[in-house]
Amino acid sequence: MPQLTVVVPAYNESAVLETFHRRLGKVLDSLPLDLCVLYVDDGSGDDTWSIIETLIATDPRTGALKLSRNFGKETALTAGLDAVTTGAAVVIDADLQDPPELIPSLVEQWQAGHDVVYATRSAREGESGFKRFTAAAFYRSMERLSDTAIPRDTGDFRLLSRRALDALGQLRERQRFMKGLFSWIGYRQTSVRYLREPRQGGTTKWNYWRLGQLAIEGITSFSTAPLRLATWVGLASAGLAFVYGIMVLVKSLFYGDPVRGYPTLMLVILFLGGVQLLALGVIGEYLGRNYAESKQRPLYFIEEQRLPRNPH
Ligand code: UDP
Ligand code: MG
Repeated sequence: MPQLTVVVPAYNESAVLETFHRRLGKVLDSLPLDLCVLYVDDGSGDDTWSIIETLIATDPRTGALKLSRNFGKETALTAGLDAVTTGAAVVIDADLQDPPELIPSLVEQWQAGHDVVYATRSAREGESGFKRFTAAAFYRSMERLSDTAIPRDTGDFRLLSRRALDALGQLRERQRFMKGLFSWIGYRQTSVRYLREPRQGGTTKWNYWRLGQLAIEGITSFSTAPLRLATWVGLASAGLAFVYGIMVLVKSLFYGDPVRGYPTLMLVILFLGGVQLLALGVIGEYLGRNYAESKQRPLYFIEEQRLPRNPH
């Protein structure tokens, strides 16, 4: 039988974990596959781990990893996927925003020969207009800036075939923008549509600050367009300066020029100063990322590992 592991990152999810497991279990029971569930406790501060332990005790196909601290979702996912050494994997959030009931459709596409089957949301219920707007703006700018096409309105909820997992396992960069990495590996990718539900309990770990950081992460790890932007702004202001310089020259040759022009001078200095700092900041972003990569630190540490009693 084909093997499939469901990887679930969980950070302070005690409010929903049991409901999640029950709903997931129902779906898995209906699938003619050799199934495992792997929870990744991303350094939760609540009793997520003890709930996971009871789930493991009652369901023999359940296993778990406990990371040594909170590493963030992207790294928790990586840890989970690294632990899937045989068969394919499904990645799903613990908060029931990704409906487990969709897994059979993902499996269907996988068995039809696709390597990456991602779930695309057709609506974002329970999210504010502003959140929808920022998300849309983000996907649109990613599309323009990056060389890797990242499917719109797609989260991390997806199925990865064995060879997609092997490919992904070789991408060891520290700045992990998973949505981008999933696309970058290529192979046969397809999507399945679904309705995004509101969270069933607990609160989102993503405030706008973290979302903003994720956006910068996404753009800088998949595009060097911002660096090029500095070049274009530099060229444009040099061009403008040249034209203005000729104007000043002509004016002082033909009309003479008593000392004036303090406001223009200030304006130009302040404007160029701002542009230069901005460009330095952009360079700094990339340099910082380079620094983080060059340290070659391991991506995560595992504090405790519980294999399913009934592994593949
Ligand atoms: N998560 C995680 N580590 C973190 C933050 C989140 O493992 O540092 C998990 C979380 O438990 C959930 C999933 O990632 O299963 C998605 O998180 P969340 O629901 O907060 O994000 P959103 O759905 O709002 O994008
Ligand atoms: Mg969520």
